[in-house]
This record gives sequence, C-alpha cells and structure tokens, in this order.
Amino acid sequence: MSKFSKLIQKQKEHQVAKKHRFNLEAKINANREGVLCACGSKKSYKLCCELIHKNIELAKTPLDLMKSRYTAYVLGAIDYLMLSQHSSTRPFSEKEEILNWTKSVQWLELVIVEAKETHIDEGFVTFKALFIEDGVKNTIFEKSRFIKENNHWTYVDGIHS
Ligand SMILES: [Zn+2]
Repeated sequence: MSKFSKLIQKQKEHQVAKKHRFNLEAKINANREGVLCACGSKKSYKLCCELIHKNIELAKTPLDLMKSRYTAYVLGAIDYLMLSQHSSTRPFSEKEEILNWTKSVQWLELVIVEAKETHIDEGFVTFKALFIEDGVKNTIFEKSRFIKENNHWTYVDGIHS
C-alpha cells in the first residue's frame, strides 16, 4: 500500500469513527429527551406537551392548549382530552368511541393557520389536522373556540369548513 492510499484509508476510518460517534450521541440524546413532540414544536415530548398533559395550567394560550390536545389525540390520552374540553360540551359519553377512533387513524401533521386571543378569557385557533383513515388521507379544518374554565384554557367547540 502506498503512503497516499494509506492516508486515504486512515481518513476514511476517521470519518467512519466520527459518523459512528455522531450517531451514538444522537441516540443518547433521543433516549434522554424522548421522541419529538407530535405538535410540531421540534422539541421532545418530555419538554413540550407532556408538561401540559401533567399540568394543564401550563397551557398559557389557546394555541398551547390546541397543540397539547392534538398531541393527546396522537397518543390516545383520552382523559386529558376530557379535562381540556369545556364542561358544557365535554363529550363524556363518547369517551370510548373517541379513543377507539383516534387509535384507528394515523395522525400526520398539525398545521396552525391562525391563533388569536379576542378576550382575556377567550381565544380562537384555526388549524388543519392531517391524518389517514382507512387508507385515505383526510383533513380536519376547523376554527376552534377556547375559553377559560377553572383557571385554565379549555376547548369549547369549532366551526368546520
Ligand atoms: Zn408539543
């Protein structure tokens, strides 16, 4: 082996080692912080919606609550979906049905179109939620209304279009 090809060989080994080390670090980080949150924040679930799922008062805006509800649909966190909905519209009798439905679909993405607070206790979020149901791509397009109840934001209802 010539000196030159030895050098190339060494460089290749170095690159492989570097790549390996990089993959290992990425793996360690993923283990430490968990998978990326479904809401699209690019943060890990542990540092994002999980905090809100454990303490709903951490949802400081209707948008925070909307995102945490989307993630709850993805994870099938039915109790959180009930808790985060206003008592006047909470679909408690459909709990099982909602859980079975959300587990049967494949959630793809949440796209926020617009979010605004119109009052200290009221806000609206317009969003698209993309999912696959029975092999067919589908979209929920909704303008949701949120109001505060028991000192935290709750989802009330929505206008579909
Ligand atoms: Zn999140």
